[in-house]
Amino acid sequence: MNAAPNPLGIHALVWAGDTSDVAVERAVRETADVGFDLLELSLHDLEHLDVARTRRLLEDVGLGVACSRGLTFDADVSSDDMAVVRRGVELLSASLEATIGLGGKVFTGALYSALGKYPRPVTAVGRANAVSVIRDLAAEAAKHGVTLGLEICNRYETNVVNTAREALALADDIGASNVMIHLDTYHMNIEEDDFMRPVHEVGDRLGYVHIGENHRGHLGSGHLDLTGFFHALADVDYRGPITFESFSSQVVAEGLSNDLAIWRDLWADGRELAEHAHAYLTTLLTVSRGVAA
Ligand code: MN
Repeated sequence: MNAAPNPLGIHALVWAGDTSDVAVERAVRETADVGFDLLELSLHDLEHLDVARTRRLLEDVGLGVACSRGLTFDADVSSDDMAVVRRGVELLSASLEATIGLGGKVFTGALYSALGKYPRPVTAVGRANAVSVIRDLAAEAAKHGVTLGLEICNRYETNVVNTAREALALADDIGASNVMIHLDTYHMNIEEDDFMRPVHEVGDRLGYVHIGENHRGHLGSGHLDLTGFFHALADVDYRGPITFESFSSQVVAEGLSNDLAIWRDLWADGRELAEHAHAYLTTLLTVSRGVAA
């Protein structure tokens, strides 16, 4: 039996909605206590994040870190309006800088788009703007050994890429070796044919994974084919991070919670949720790899 082929991560929104000192301290401590290898910090609250202090806290407990974010409608690199694109570039640059400062090697999310419901499809100009901006960002990231992720989000959260095939095409157009694909089971449930085909299509270009249930609550309490998904991960011998992502209206992040339409209490106790997720993911990983691995 293969021991832990992937680092297991957890999204900081299980613990706290902001990145104040108190919030980050709790997120780091609880993540390490439960046994995760990595903490994913959403950079939506970047102005309150003490990067140097957070890095020390992470290093003290030996935790890895990944950073994520989506853009906003007034700072969107997939816009036709160059003033809006430039504000998006500023957000991405500041976020990459924070990732580097934290010692992170992955910066991922809807880097190519706002997170929200667009009223129409992306334009050719808007898509080309996103390609050009991310190409430049990737060049900067490469100098620091950072990989960028294109998280594939559902149609209610972006109009740029909704499927693995579209994300691969976007990555091809960007043409940088440190831009990889980020699959999220919550979004896949809405857009993909099933939970295996996209993993096989992405193959060794898969660089990051979010595991979320169809309602974003406790793993196993929904209807997603997580068994099939983990079998596909084993098929392509995926060794990158697997991060549990879950949201409840119990933990509110200003802006982000509304962008993600988190209206319901799916859980009240983040610690209980995290312990359950860690055990569930460990089991899925073990059984999907089987005895031959
Ligand atoms: Mn996600």
